[in-house]
Amino acid sequence: MPPSPEATPPGAPLTGAAPWRSLCTDCGLSRSSDPRRCGRACQFIAPDYPALERQVHGRERDPARPDELHFGPFRRMVRARLAEPRSGAQWTGITTRIGERLLETGAVDAVLTMTATPGDPWRPRPALITRAADMAAARGMRMGYAPLLALLEPARQQGVRRLAVIGIPCQVYALRALEAELGFDRLYVIGTPCSDNTTTERFLEFLALLDDDPASITYLEFRADFHAEVRYTDGRVRSIPFLQLPISRLPADFFPLTCRTCVDYTNVLADITIGYMGGEGRQWLIVRNARGEELLDLLGPEIQCEAPGTAGRRAAHVRGFIENVRRAAGGLPLRRMPGWLRPLVGWLMPRIGPRGLEFARTRVEMKAAETVLHLRREQPARMRHMVPAHVWALVEPYGIVPQRGERE
Ligand SMILES: Cc1cc2nc3c(=O)[nH]c(=O)nc-3n(C[C@H](O)[C@H](O)[C@H](O)COP(=O)(O)OP(=O)(O)OC[C@H]3O[C@@H](n4cnc5c(N)ncnc54)[C@H](O)[C@@H]3O)c2cc1C
Ligand code: SF4
Ligand code: SF4
Repeated sequence: MPPSPEATPPGAPLTGAAPWRSLCTDCGLSRSSDPRRCGRACQFIAPDYPALERQVHGRERDPARPDELHFGPFRRMVRARLAEPRSGAQWTGITTRIGERLLETGAVDAVLTMTATPGDPWRPRPALITRAADMAAARGMRMGYAPLLALLEPARQQGVRRLAVIGIPCQVYALRALEAELGFDRLYVIGTPCSDNTTTERFLEFLALLDDDPASITYLEFRADFHAEVRYTDGRVRSIPFLQLPISRLPADFFPLTCRTCVDYTNVLADITIGYMGGEGRQWLIVRNARGEELLDLLGPEIQCEAPGTAGRRAAHVRGFIENVRRAAGGLPLRRMPGWLRPLVGWLMPRIGPRGLEFARTRVEMKAAETVLHLRREQPARMRHMVPAHVWALVEPYGIVPQRGERE
């Protein structure tokens, strides 16, 4: 069992209750001493990506540079793995290993990240970790929301001056929006992509549909080869084609509107983004600025890197997905396909579907289309402020364009 983080003992009261907001993933800001800051720091209110991209990376994304429209500003992308994958990690553990290295080398006083709730392994719980050995407790993915940024003020009170934060895009947006006033001497931001999150309760319902003994499931990942990988306490591993997942049995509101309309899949405001979508079975790193290079350098020969590949064509897949989202009218975008055809298509997709960077572009475009279609249907008044220009540019090739009042 991994050690528990030193600075946040299990069971310690975390924060007060969060005020209710209609589009909110409880990033933690509303639980801080000044919840009014949500108004200027929330991804779901009036985000200003160009301004924050300039602040963080020194420039906005440049649609003329390959892939920046899709993935945000970056210096380089790599396909990578740790030479010695860490047990309990979601992939090979690059994310938490960088956190360990920052603490080992004394580059930071603490790493703010998620661990699991004691006795409730799928429920995320924020922790301020100050000892490298305790980073092991953060390995792996939990499903759900937890107020990561609520620990920023306690961190300052504990004397943390140099901090690293590992976060998902909605957390990182608020962090960057307030970075200047937080007063840390140094801030490193390690981001992961994020999509299709939901509450831990809802996620546990999904596990119960996947297996008669959901408590025995220790790991789930939606891989880039169109299969979900499921691991069990007894060491079994199952690989299930997406098309055979029990999605049709989920309630229409399984994914909250926040995650159906999130505009930053690839965490563009992080110094480095660590995901898997463009990695063809390996991890996929987007190094965005000098600080991101510094973070990657910390791993030295521990990390094996190569250029990412790309294959296949995304347009027909994205178009089909958009049709399904429209047909589902707010519910889950299910494919209309007879049951007997599903195994065959499930077998074919990893072979003929988009792969590598093309898979990542496919997913980013699908997500952009979902944003527009779901918001238009459920909260049209939000569109003018919430949908950034890059999202419109991503969906325009599919005939999705702003209607009156939706832009400016
Ligand atoms: C809800 C969710 C959805 C994701 N969807 C995608 C996706 O569609 N495409 C993609 O390429 N990558 C996605 N990721 C990222 C991916 O799952 C891996 O976390 C990432 O590739 C890093 O792998 P690793 O082995 O380096 O991580 P590890 O070294 O195992 O570290 C994982 C890190 O994630 C943090 N974390 C775990 N759960 C949460 C949570 N609920 N909220 C915030 N932080 C958390 C941990 O604190 C830890 O720091 C998603 C992550 C989450 C949390
Ligand atoms: S800033 Fe965070 S806490 Fe505030 S409304 Fe947005 S997601 Fe919720
Ligand atoms: S999908 Fe977007 S809004 Fe939902 S948890 Fe992930 S980053 Fe936050």
